[in-house]
Amino acid sequence: MTVRRPVVCNECGTVIVTRTSIGHLDYQEFAFPCPKCAVEIRFGMTLDQTAPSFDYTLLKNGKWVEDESAAKSELRFDSENLSSCLPGAQAMPFIETVFLAKDPENSRKRFGQRFSAMRTGWPVIEKMLVHEANENLELFNRSLSELTAQTNADSNIEMVAILLSVLDQFASEFLLDEGVARRRITALIEKVSSREAPLGEALAYYQSEQRLDSLWQQLTAIPRTWGKVYFMVAPIYWGLSWDPSKASLDDYTLCQKRFEDLRGFFVDCFETFCRLSAVAAGFEGIAEIDQFLIPSPARPRPVSDLELMPNGNKHTLLTTLRHGNIFIPFIDAKLRNGVGHHSAYYDVTTDTIHYRNQSSSRGIEDFSISYVRFCEKLVRLYGQVEACAPLIHFLRMRQKLSLVSEAGDASAEEGA
Ligand SMILES: [Zn+2]
Repeated sequence: MTVRRPVVCNECGTVIVTRTSIGHLDYQEFAFPCPKCAVEIRFGMTLDQTAPSFDYTLLKNGKWVEDESAAKSELRFDSENLSSCLPGAQAMPFIETVFLAKDPENSRKRFGQRFSAMRTGWPVIEKMLVHEANENLELFNRSLSELTAQTNADSNIEMVAILLSVLDQFASEFLLDEGVARRRITALIEKVSSREAPLGEALAYYQSEQRLDSLWQQLTAIPRTWGKVYFMVAPIYWGLSWDPSKASLDDYTLCQKRFEDLRGFFVDCFETFCRLSAVAAGFEGIAEIDQFLIPSPARPRPVSDLELMPNGNKHTLLTTLRHGNIFIPFIDAKLRNGVGHHSAYYDVTTDTIHYRNQSSSRGIEDFSISYVRFCEKLVRLYGQVEACAPLIHFLRMRQKLSLVSEAGDASAEEGA
């Protein structure tokens, strides 16, 4: 369904007709520049999917009006599809883009799977995280039964194993390279899992100073935020399924403009991803040289060297690693620093994010990236974080197993 509603610009009095698709979200928020004075007009709609009904609950720099006879332009908005920026485009975004996919049927199916993973799967997993942390087996199993009738946990350690596998399965909907990076990480973990001596060193390192707990907290915070962010950037996945000979993302954009809601998530993904790169580097040492060190041509280096190195320099150590290319292309430290700084902003007239970097060697450098490409980077980075998440899941499982066996040893001693 599409609804029309004219709005008048508070600054210059221009009337614009908004044509908005009613999607499946609970809230959608759009922004556009006034065609005459360029001021940003922003509006939000709260949708009740059960009724179904909707309300216009936000309007910035404009006033809703009844009469559209003075309108000189019409603008299209759709929270679930990409909209073209090509001159003269009038069709609603869904119609405009429906035939651009390489495999339209498969891309619709995948889109539906992601949507239901977020809408119905994630809220259940979020409860399971709480119940696992509280070791509440009964409530954990009750939540689990909402996802599958096939299995349930009989002990705390089974609860951890099931939770980790559910997390991996959920995230596999968002991997973007047909799962190649995930498979490489899984193969690395398999190699590492039989090297007891250096693996023991790695576990001791991650358990000291609560490093692993902090990594786990940081990692699980990512899908929690993704639960909201996904619905702001979902149309990107359509673009990634397109036939490149038919269309390029450069000619399209997202109608929802949510930079202020996305920037923190980008920074969180980036920081988590950089920490994951150090874990992978140490694992590579275990696999390649049987030592919990970063293999490096000159001499093996402690993992903390990579952790402490500024993110912008990490590529110097990662580049010689077999698994370095899982990380390096995603570590855009200039974008991360720019977006993390309060001076970064979304410019509605050019549909671009402007950001700057300051360094003693180069001074102030200004950069910009189109909104759609920023969202693409965010979606790709999130997917890559999830591809590498099993590194932490593996350590977490080993940690829990060692706690169980220590408890077993202690009770055996008491018995003796
Ligand atoms: Zn205006």
